[in-house]
Amino acid sequence: MVNSIYIWLTLFFMFTTTLFLAQINVECGTHLSVREKAQIHQILSSPIKNGNYLDSIVPVDVHIIGFSDSTGAIDSATIMTELERVNQHYAPAGMYFVKCNPINFIYSDTYAYFEQQIDEVICDIIDFPNVLNLYFVPQLFRDNDGQTIQLCGYTYYLGNKNRVIISNQCAANGSSLAHEIGHYFSLLHTHDTTNGFELVARVNCNVLGDEFCDTPADPTLSEVNVNTSCQYIGAAQDPHGDAYVPDVRNIMSYSRKSCRDKFSIEQAQRMRTYFRNYRSYLYCINDGYLHTNSNNLEYVLFPNPSRDFLAVVTNESKNKSYHYCLYNYLGKPISCDEITNYQHLNITTLKAGTYFVALSNDSTTKIQKFIKY
Ligand SMILES: [Zn+2]
Repeated sequence: MVNSIYIWLTLFFMFTTTLFLAQINVECGTHLSVREKAQIHQILSSPIKNGNYLDSIVPVDVHIIGFSDSTGAIDSATIMTELERVNQHYAPAGMYFVKCNPINFIYSDTYAYFEQQIDEVICDIIDFPNVLNLYFVPQLFRDNDGQTIQLCGYTYYLGNKNRVIISNQCAANGSSLAHEIGHYFSLLHTHDTTNGFELVARVNCNVLGDEFCDTPADPTLSEVNVNTSCQYIGAAQDPHGDAYVPDVRNIMSYSRKSCRDKFSIEQAQRMRTYFRNYRSYLYCINDGYLHTNSNNLEYVLFPNPSRDFLAVVTNESKNKSYHYCLYNYLGKPISCDEITNYQHLNITTLKAGTYFVALSNDSTTKIQKFIKY
């Protein structure tokens, strides 16, 4: 008798453990804290900035990771094809992704089996500044109390980690790359419940769920409740007893990956606002006018005109430091300091108008003008 109870208990725990593991999110490793969400709302609710030269171009760089013996790296042509598919998905947002520098290949066993966040040491070292860095790794996982969870990809909503990490198994499925970039530009999952359950009836749909009224309530899609013909076959009901009619095509859902092929209009608008209001520092300097083989000090200030931040990028090494002074339009000095290459100057407190930056290395000082608006 004792034995049979023991067996039943064992079976019970095995079943519940399996159930628990089956429910773990293995799709996407991107997370958003409550505090970050509040910050995103603030960014989105500030006045939309006027477009500058960064009207539509999102500069990206591609890093392909393989094993030390040169195996496991994804084909670069596959990635470029996938980037074109991303461009089709982002056309409604008026955003176009362009590769800035040549593809960077890294062959290292240490990083080919990539653990979320822990292995980002390599990204900290080789990220191209001020572009969205796309990393393609043979294996991507996170550790969940000793349990290895495979991930398709992940990214960051906020901060200066301009990077998306994608596992090779999801790199060319037509939607995972677009999905993670969607998070990078502030989108939530269509089944998100941290704001509260979204109802099938469109009540408070702008604050509940994914905060969009043109994406239907989503009970969390999967390959179980979306069939291979991209039809929803689940029977879930919302708290009011209404049957869900989710959008199996939405890129920010967990639908079958081959079924996901569109953003809603509101999603596209939100990404564009976030791009302009928060990610406007993205800029490709490799456009020919900054001569990196010059012996003289060359630099660019961007964005120019600018409202909040001004990046200083020179033709010298990334860690090189400089003395700089800021002058008003009359040539009167406002402030002087030491900065390093690629550093952002905070200009939020400056009044609108014309200013000059004088940048000095050991032998040269060069002056450039910028407009604060
Ligand atoms: Zn996701």
